[in-house]
Amino acid sequence: MAGLIKVITGEMFSGKSEELARLVEQCLANDHRVQVFYPAMSSRGSTRDIEQRLEPHDHLLVQAVPNADAEQMSALVAPTADVIVVDEAQFFSPAIVRVVREWRRRGCLVLIGGLDQDYLEHPFGCMGDLMCIANEVVKFHAFCAACGAQDAFISHRISAESGQIAVGESYVPLCEDCYVKTLTQREETVFAD
Ligand SMILES: [Zn+2]
Repeated sequence: MAGLIKVITGEMFSGKSEELARLVEQCLANDHRVQVFYPAMSSRGSTRDIEQRLEPHDHLLVQAVPNADAEQMSALVAPTADVIVVDEAQFFSPAIVRVVREWRRRGCLVLIGGLDQDYLEHPFGCMGDLMCIANEVVKFHAFCAACGAQDAFISHRISAESGQIAVGESYVPLCEDCYVKTLTQREETVFAD
């Protein structure tokens, strides 16, 4: 059986993890053996969102990958797994691109969830590369937290931390119009000083 890479992306609160969980349940119902990875990182509380969404199952293995190291993740794959899921893929090391390609070559269905952009509109980690090599890409969108439009495009950071990954950060999804307004307000504050 030929493998396939499917990327599910979008901003925070767009329903990516729900969609991944739905696909996992579907694979389990069809007798596939599913292995799910998410990053464990010292700079950020480990993300267990996907784990919390999945019911325990005999054919399901969910594992945190230390330091989001793609090589370590590769070494953890069970030989019997035919569906491999990576959530929060934006945090993984660049080797993830080669690793997921190897899984596809081996005939696995590879499901990848992750943020497309950081809070400054920069492409996040290797998500762009993963979208390039994928067979399928789906972008999900949250509703804008400011105006309710159903086309939020960015995770806007509402806490004061800087840096792409920060401890205690919090975000809201915003559409482009509302995001631009926050930038204008920021400039006005700077000029007022
Ligand atoms: Zn809006």
